[in-house]
Amino acid sequence: MTPIYNFSAGPAVLPKEVLRQAADEMLDWHGSGMSVMEMSHRGPEFIAIYQQAVADLRELLAVPDNYRILFLQGGGLGENAIVPMNLVGRVAQPATIDFVHTGSWSGKSIKEAARYASVNVAARPEGSFTSVPAQESWQLTPGAAYLHLCTNETIDGVEYNFVPTVQGDTPIVADMSSHILSRVIDVSQYGAIFAGAQKNIGPAGLTLLIVRDDLLGHALPICPSAFDWQIVAEHDSMYNTPPTYAIYIAGLVFAHLKRQGGVAAMERRNIAKAQLLYAALDSDDFYSNRVAPANRSRMNVPFYLRDEALNEPFLAGAKARGLLQLKGHKSVGGMRASIYNAMPIEGVQALVDYLNEFAGR
Ligand SMILES: *Cc1c(COP(=O)(O)O)cnc(C)c1O
Repeated sequence: MTPIYNFSAGPAVLPKEVLRQAADEMLDWHGSGMSVMEMSHRGPEFIAIYQQAVADLRELLAVPDNYRILFLQGGGLGENAIVPMNLVGRVAQPATIDFVHTGSWSGKSIKEAARYASVNVAARPEGSFTSVPAQESWQLTPGAAYLHLCTNETIDGVEYNFVPTVQGDTPIVADMSSHILSRVIDVSQYGAIFAGAQKNIGPAGLTLLIVRDDLLGHALPICPSAFDWQIVAEHDSMYNTPPTYAIYIAGLVFAHLKRQGGVAAMERRNIAKAQLLYAALDSDDFYSNRVAPANRSRMNVPFYLRDEALNEPFLAGAKARGLLQLKGHKSVGGMRASIYNAMPIEGVQALVDYLNEFAGR
């Protein structure tokens, strides 16, 4: 059987080893006689699963002690409302939130946040979203409630290659949904980091939040209790029933990443995968990727065929070779290969072989 490689942007490929373990444990977790799905979130079995997941993630990202790891719901877009509701209140009203607009997802965040504060777009590239504007050009607001960045734009394929420096005590909030755990980060440079799970962590329905202690306790009165970070933190992410099965799978992924050598080892593999794919796209003017080389995403690689009339035959041929879900996002067209942590280099090599073969034909 030819192996299948899934290039979906999300929900996305998970490590085979994790799926096999989940299958083995599906009906009876560790002799408990229960599936994880059937367990009380307050029982000792699930509490153990939860605590191990938090500890492993803390180790993987070297999360400092003054940061909380919270499991929320509502996805990446839910956080676009939940973040301002939790942080606008930390400064005098009326508050301003700074944004850097680098693509589709930061654009959606801007729109949502405008309900809760005034929004300042500190920078956006001229024309299409193919680069991160240099920090010298950013027009930041002194005393802003926070600065929001989407550090990997999943649709546009634009990834930050630097962490900005901010004056005063304005915290940086980063939407890392599509590249968390793919590269080494210094958590202490951020006030809060959030990520929908369905790209590099686990199943959709779980949202990860890593937040500095002093940013808890500022929620606006309109903030629903289940989304008030302080309340969620006080209840160890169990103020309401958390997405237990998704947390369990995320925990299996964290343990798997540790066995793979941790985030630094994943980053080395991700660099090698991305170099292989971009080199193939650049080597033939049959294909193009329009992102500035310094800001090309290691996770999401959008590309276009010179002759768009060949899009359908390209996708059909890819599918016949087991290369799935390569169609680009409907808002930008073309193709997109998402090569998350769980995509092995063999999958990227199979795609490169197909790119060369198709261009040759
Ligand atoms: C996928 C994604 C989202 C949206 O996540 P939902 O869970 O669908 O709300 C937000 N931000 C980024 C960067 C994403 O990649």
